[in-house]
Amino acid sequence: MLIVQKFGGTSVANPERIKNVASRVARCHAQGSQVVVVVSAMSGVTDKLIKMATELTPLPNEREMDMLLATGEQTTIALTAIALHALNVPAVSLTGAQAGITTDGVHTKAKIKNITPRQVHALLKEGKVVIVAGFQGQTPEGQITTLGRGGSDLTAIALAAALKADLCQIYTDVDGVYTADPRVVPGARKMAEISYDEMLELAGLGAKVMQSRSVEFAKKFGVPFEVRSSLNDNPGTIVKEENSGMEGVVIRGVTLDENQAKITLVEVPDRPGVAAQIFKAIADANINVDMIVQNISHTPNAPATDLSFTVDKPDLPKAAKIIDGLRKAIGAREVIADEKIGKLSIVGVGMRSHPGVAAKMFGTLAGAGVNIQMISTSEIKISVIVDITKGKQAMRLMHDAFLENQT
Ligand code: ADP
Ligand code: ASP
Ligand code: MG
Repeated sequence: MLIVQKFGGTSVANPERIKNVASRVARCHAQGSQVVVVVSAMSGVTDKLIKMATELTPLPNEREMDMLLATGEQTTIALTAIALHALNVPAVSLTGAQAGITTDGVHTKAKIKNITPRQVHALLKEGKVVIVAGFQGQTPEGQITTLGRGGSDLTAIALAAALKADLCQIYTDVDGVYTADPRVVPGARKMAEISYDEMLELAGLGAKVMQSRSVEFAKKFGVPFEVRSSLNDNPGTIVKEENSGMEGVVIRGVTLDENQAKITLVEVPDRPGVAAQIFKAIADANINVDMIVQNISHTPNAPATDLSFTVDKPDLPKAAKIIDGLRKAIGAREVIADEKIGKLSIVGVGMRSHPGVAAKMFGTLAGAGVNIQMISTSEIKISVIVDITKGKQAMRLMHDAFLENQT
């Protein structure tokens, strides 16, 4: 068996935890498996490095940020190898580049272009445990890159695909993927399995247990994986292709994303080209837009409509400045920026075949006096924007309404 095991930040947070990881890996190696270990930076390290850089300047150079952030994972691979040596297990650490991970040149959010794991194969053949730095790669020109926050998940899944591993295990600080963040919703339950599409939606909508790009990659290349705890031996959650049984569950999970902000343009003239002008300016600034809501206008003489959209909270100042600059040219009355919002979502493939899900969601929120500011849907999810102070309460309500009595 060839097994890829990924250990996240809290699982390698200190020497004691690294020892725990080493003994887990050693056990697997002793059973005769070939083991490739992917590790993150020790918890808090990436944040600390970012903080130091932004204390020097608010927008540090992105190439240098990658150079800086890659050191976090490089520390952990060496420590993990040393911990394995202490258990008499032959182990070698490799940077992303040494493991053959080639990316494009988009610093701080590079995409993997290909993986040529020649060294990994050779070392495994010698009976060594190979420890690879997560979250990092190298451009064909030899520049160090990183894969976006949470990117060690992607390293693990991409390596599992490239090595045609028999098993890919994501070890973290919870027992698996839950019906909601167990730190926010005490009644959240661990799922035995979940489809790629549902996991993708949950990850994209704020469940930080898996990086969403890593799930996208797993789906594209058909890599099933297991999310489980590094602190016990409980079975985790299997993430895999959808099967017919999965549609029986109407709602699989609930998420709350508190990292969004909303911009509203009040009384935008209702004529062709206005939306194009607004969103071109936002796109030119490399800002991702998530929800967009615009209604029809009812005043025939001076047709105008409000237009709202959401962006990631850190992008709000930049986006608001751009829109303020455009306001006069467009002829909008006012621009309102609001970062006190949360995006609450329910996700499940069963939604496709069960009517009444939206009605139940909105009715539950209404019953608790939670106002809905925006709504967006896809085939397998419904998201609403609510006041951030009501977010966690609304999340628990959704969980009670849809998931409490489910088996
Ligand atoms: P790691 O450092 O191992 O990558 P993360 O902190 O990135 O771990 O992800 C694990 C955390 O994700 C958990 O501690 C949990 O609070 C959070 N989380 C959010 N939503 C969920 C969910 N639906 N199921 C499980 N964990 C969740
Ligand atoms: N260390 C990186 C981060 O904190 C990558 C990861 O942990 O997956 O985002
Ligand atoms: Mg993570």
